[in-house]
Amino acid sequence: MALRINIEKCTACGKCQSVCSYNAIYESRIPDPEECEHCDVCIGMNCDFFAEGEKTYVIDSYRCTECIEDSDAPKCIASCPVNDCIEPDPYFKETREQLLEKRTKLTKK
Ligand code: SF4
Ligand code: SF4
Repeated sequence: MALRINIEKCTACGKCQSVCSYNAIYESRIPDPEECEHCDVCIGMNCDFFAEGEKTYVIDSYRCTECIEDSDAPKCIASCPVNDCIEPDPYFKETREQLLEKRTKLTKK
């Protein structure tokens, strides 16, 4: 199961991003809910509401290995100063074998 960041709790300190070995954590923005038109084309499309939104961080489920085989526990959780800010993503469940396969693909040169 990949992890996800609870944007309600995240203070955007960036500590988690600096410890992830797989570049799975990236900076993002939270568009103003009053302005957002929910058109779903904001990321990479230079939407002003998105660009001016509050900073946060997001985990790419396709790159998060849960730090399997690399650490006893997810490094991002250990680095995060906010309790329960990073949590398992219930919408992205994976078996141990799937996580290991993902890790192998990510570490191939
Ligand atoms: S669990 Fe590990 S691989 Fe996944 S985002 Fe956190 S530090 Fe990166
Ligand atoms: S370490 Fe925690 S509070 Fe800081 S950016 Fe990452 S998820 Fe947010």
